[in-house]
Amino acid sequence: MLKKGSKLYSILTGTCPRCHEESMYIDKNPFHLGNIYKMHEKCSHCGQLYKIEPSFFYGAMYVSYALGVAVSIAAFIIAFVFFDASLKTSFFVIIGTLIVLMPVTMRISRNIWINFFINYNKDWEKSKKA
Ligand SMILES: [Zn+2]
Repeated sequence: MLKKGSKLYSILTGTCPRCHEESMYIDKNPFHLGNIYKMHEKCSHCGQLYKIEPSFFYGAMYVSYALGVAVSIAAFIIAFVFFDASLKTSFFVIIGTLIVLMPVTMRISRNIWINFFINYNKDWEKSKKA
């Protein structure tokens, strides 16, 4: 399922949405918080610009909101239903999960966002800008 050419691959690995050849991020580990937003300007393989326009990644905030809601619901169900936690405990589990996963959520939001606009192109070498 997770192979080059699928959007999921680019979203989960943070690779260039056009050629899937390299990571968009300078530091691949999102838990190195100081580097969380440090991205390459463009892909060194296909030349795709990552910041398509100024403040392009502001839109990723909407995605991150939706993702946060999804994570919260998942955390709640796991704590409340599977671990039989009280409502109060479940609430803290949600907050804790959101905080711990935040670096990952932020990155995945950006990856999803850029994948809305740029599609994988298996012929990227041919269409490479000189
Ligand atoms: Zn590329």
